[in-house]
Amino acid sequence: MSKKKKLTTASGRPYFENEDSMTAGPRGPVLLQDYYLHEKLAHFNRERIPERIVHAKGTGAFGTFRVTNDITDYTKAKLFGKVGNSCRVFVRFSTVGGEKGSADTERDPRGFAVKFYTEDGNWDLVGNNTPVFFIKDAKKFPDFIHTQKRDPKTNLKSPNMLWDYWSLNPESLHQVMILFSDRGTPDGYRFMNGYGSHTFSMYNSNNERVWVKFHFKTMQGNRTLTAARAEELKGKDPDYAQRDLVTAIEKGDFPRWALKIQVMTDEQAKAFRWNPFDITKVWPHGEYPLNDVGIMELNEIPSNYHADVEQSAFAPAHVVDGIGLSPDKMLQGRILSYPDAHRYRLGANYEQIPVNRPIHPVNNYQRDGMMRIDGNGGDKSNYFPNSFDDIEADKNYREHPMKLDSDVADFYDRNENDDDHYTQPGDLFRKVMNDTEKEHTISNFVASMSEISGPERDNIIRRQLSHFHKADEELAILIAKGLNFDFRPDK
Ligand code: NDP
Repeated sequence: MSKKKKLTTASGRPYFENEDSMTAGPRGPVLLQDYYLHEKLAHFNRERIPERIVHAKGTGAFGTFRVTNDITDYTKAKLFGKVGNSCRVFVRFSTVGGEKGSADTERDPRGFAVKFYTEDGNWDLVGNNTPVFFIKDAKKFPDFIHTQKRDPKTNLKSPNMLWDYWSLNPESLHQVMILFSDRGTPDGYRFMNGYGSHTFSMYNSNNERVWVKFHFKTMQGNRTLTAARAEELKGKDPDYAQRDLVTAIEKGDFPRWALKIQVMTDEQAKAFRWNPFDITKVWPHGEYPLNDVGIMELNEIPSNYHADVEQSAFAPAHVVDGIGLSPDKMLQGRILSYPDAHRYRLGANYEQIPVNRPIHPVNNYQRDGMMRIDGNGGDKSNYFPNSFDDIEADKNYREHPMKLDSDVADFYDRNENDDDHYTQPGDLFRKVMNDTEKEHTISNFVASMSEISGPERDNIIRRQLSHFHKADEELAILIAKGLNFDFRPDK
């Protein structure tokens, strides 16, 4: 007797033939009653689930996170309760604008999404490899993303759309500066930092809240590709970053990142010269130093890509007790839009898919819906309150109210220095970049902006150069020179 498993239909019936259809006579035609043929073709037609609108091309790995430093002064999150605590994590890296089959070395921010499976539920830190973002209000997101995708008529990527939008939205300048430095083309996913990007909060066992920014510093060192090398790899190996991660982990070379936090008190937040909840700004390290928290190591490639990577679903809404949100407008918008995207892409019960399932038991009164596979609460009560079940809403998990000092704001209310889109990108260029990095950044700008064409070309270029000029005069002049553009900044 063979020890091999039997081929079966999806309903479990052992089946003997996987290649030849059942026919009327040896030459056919094929019989309608060959159910296994229908099942095979019909399932194949349904193999694709909707592609993520952004972050479609990605790769992922499981690993562990271990706490190395005590931050209980800031948070009562159980994960951080003791030095040495650890939990399993799943990380998905991605590019942002390209489709599922696009090249890994495109100039693009990289998604850096971490799911911590904690004993108090899943904590998702859904960030990028950049500490800032192009826009600070989620209301702008669909417009912004349209410019990163394809022209509605030609279906081509459009430098006109990119630069038109960026030049009309100067709050993008900081992220655009980072994107066009060589950090916009990281050498795979192992050699880049990750950032929570938003301001979050933490509260301790006395319910004292501080504002927090999260940084994952690569322990492999930052490594980037020049524009020429990135371009070459697009053709030679479009899956370069996926291959690099899988190959390294499969041979036991496990990548690691040090998790660090910046902390700001409420008093400091009030005195900060920028809005601390503005995702287009960083908190300077000199004033808000990085505190060590723990180490994350990735050490397991999922055995099935679709099951774990394609079906993984992260949401900034998923914080755990001791970690809170903030008034960051972009974060507030993502709290809605991420779970909404997952419900569309994976269905209302997406959190039951194994990669998304918490290790903590799920007890609530949500029932039914497509693809409910966890027993659906069995015979337990499906309403609250009731006299029968043993579920309690534990008041110890009550989050202390977040102090805010504003009334309902007008749509156009501005914080002081909100329109300072220039100081920080200028600092990046002047203080952080060395001469080679400056040179690469300028030539990357020139290469991209020289593709702007059409009747609005000169207006778009002039508008963008004037933003560069406000950040750093030399930067604007060198880009204008590279473009051979007659730029006369307004005095
Ligand atoms: P610091 O000199 O203390 O730190 C500079 C930071 O910039 C480091 O974190 C470094 O990362 C990172 N960096 C280096 N090159 C690039 C690049 N091309 N693109 C993006 N980041 C880069 O600076 P400050 O805190 O005083 O801030 C100065 C500027 O540095 C900011 O305006 C901002 O543009 C940038 N920056 C600041 C961050 C922050 O949270 N304060 C975070 C990232 C960037 P690494 O140490 O890993 O090499």
